[in-house]
Amino acid sequence: MSDREYIACPYCDADDYALWAEENGWQAVKCRQCDIVYVNPRPTLESIREAARTGLHQNDFGTLDVVGKFSRKKSRKIKRRLLHLYPGADLRGKTIRWLDIGAGFGELLIVIQGLLRHDATVCGVEPCEPKRVHGQQAGLRIEESFSMIEGKFDVISLINVFGHLPNHFEFFGELLKQLTPGGEIVLVTGNGGEVPLEQYPQKLFLPDHLVFAGEKHLSGMLEKLGFDIIEIKRYRVIPLAKMIRRSIKRLFGRRTGKLSPYEQYRSPFRSIWIRARLATDV
Ligand SMILES: [Zn+2]
Repeated sequence: MSDREYIACPYCDADDYALWAEENGWQAVKCRQCDIVYVNPRPTLESIREAARTGLHQNDFGTLDVVGKFSRKKSRKIKRRLLHLYPGADLRGKTIRWLDIGAGFGELLIVIQGLLRHDATVCGVEPCEPKRVHGQQAGLRIEESFSMIEGKFDVISLINVFGHLPNHFEFFGELLKQLTPGGEIVLVTGNGGEVPLEQYPQKLFLPDHLVFAGEKHLSGMLEKLGFDIIEIKRYRVIPLAKMIRRSIKRLFGRRTGKLSPYEQYRSPFRSIWIRARLATDV
C-alpha cells in the first residue's frame, strides 16, 4: 500500500468521513463536516504528478488512459459558455493576458484567441505530454509546468482541473500571485460532491479525479482566498435535445453511460462555471 496515503479532508481538514463510492480499486469518501468528496487513501503525490505528466494511471485493474483527443465540439461549447461569463465588451475592451491551466489539446486557447484583441497574450500549461505536443503543433504556446510561465495575467482559467488537484488551497494560493491587481479566475468543475452517487451521471474516474466538490466549496474557497464572485453559471451535462437524441439511439440498443439519457437529464449534476475577481483591497 506504499503507493497510497491517507489524508485529512482537503477542504476543512477534518478526519471524519464515510465511504461514498468505490471504483477501479479506489475509494472516494464524503467528509461528514463539510460534505466534500475525496479519494482516500489517495495515490502518493509522486504518482499523481507522474500520472498528470503521462495521462496514465496504474490501478488494480490495469492502466487507465485519460488522454482522450482534441474535440471541436468541446471548443464550441467552451466558446458559448465563456460568452455567458464574459459579455463581448469585457474581452475586447483592453489588451488581456490570458493563461489556461490544464490546457488539454488547446480547445480553450483556440477559442480565446478568436475572442480577444489581436495583441492579447494567450498561453497555456499542460503537464500531459501527448496533449501538450498536439497543441504546440497547432501553433499554441503551451508549457509543461506553471513554473515555466513568466509574468502576470489578467485572467487564469481552469477548465475541469479542480478535481485533479491534490491540494487546491495551496495551488490557488500560488496561482493568485500570478494575477494582476483585479485579475480574474475562470473556474469550471462539476458539482459531484453535492449529488447523490446514484445520480452522478458518469464514471467517477478514480483516482484521476481526486476531489468532487459542491458549489459551496468552490465559492467558499475563492472567497477565503480574497476573490469576489462575479458570475456563476450552471449547465446540465445533457440538455433536452441531446437527451431526446440519445434516447432514440438507446431504442436501437446503443447504451450511453451509467444512467439512461432521461436519468442523466433529471440528475442534479451541473457543470459549474465561476468567474471571480481578486479583490483589490486585500
Ligand atoms: Zn471536510
